[in-house]
Amino acid sequence: MRFSKIFIYDEPAIPEIQLNSLTEFLQNTFHVPVYKRKNIFANQGKNVAHNIAATRIFNYRMPFQKHEPADEEVQFELETFVDSSKTENIILYDGFEFHQTVSDLIPKEEANLDNFHLIFTNKLTCTFDDSDFRYHGRALIGSNPAIISTTGIIEAPAKPREFYMEMMANYGMGLNVDSIKQKYKGQYLEYHDSKMDKIIQGYALQAILYYITGEPFCEFLDCRLNNAHWQRDLLYSQLEFGRLCPKHQKNLDDWLTLN
Ligand SMILES: [Zn+2]
Repeated sequence: MRFSKIFIYDEPAIPEIQLNSLTEFLQNTFHVPVYKRKNIFANQGKNVAHNIAATRIFNYRMPFQKHEPADEEVQFELETFVDSSKTENIILYDGFEFHQTVSDLIPKEEANLDNFHLIFTNKLTCTFDDSDFRYHGRALIGSNPAIISTTGIIEAPAKPREFYMEMMANYGMGLNVDSIKQKYKGQYLEYHDSKMDKIIQGYALQAILYYITGEPFCEFLDCRLNNAHWQRDLLYSQLEFGRLCPKHQKNLDDWLTLN
């Protein structure tokens, strides 16, 4: 798939995205102009708030069931449109329903195949997995527009097994969970982690190369397109390795020649 412009929509609650350096990175990688936009929900009204609230998941062990949002749920969304730092990471949204609603917010004159739209949100997008019959958090909902959930980046790839074991072992014993978090610090991303900017570049690469090739993700840890299930793998692929594998680098080079 060819395109000639990229639009990125900010999530102002997460300045660690580093929108300016992301813009530069994408321009240098894809050799097309990149335009920065405000948050996709900025200045949206009650109708959109209603539609977003309707994508909430109430039972994570059931496939999506549409529900009519209560007034306070709509009101809550409206408040996050004004100040997205009010978003709560315990609210789960169905990724595909959310994607549909968000797609409709792209201005008509810019919504075409020639423009790639990348939307950041701190709302937690999830998809239902038929293999274990439950919802899982997702950092990236692919396609065009693509959605990157900053909360998904933190919550979806798992922390070390030992971290959960210790948290469970100490649960209810009044122990300070901060000391456990401190012990594993650096092995996983935290909210407002300064490493977020590089990690987000990797997810942006995944989103755009998926649009270009139609092939999702890479099986190798030695590639920024790896779909990390563990925080450790995410940090390795994006920071320690920090490049594409030879196959995906060639995909990108071929595309640059043709585009
Ligand atoms: Zn690869």
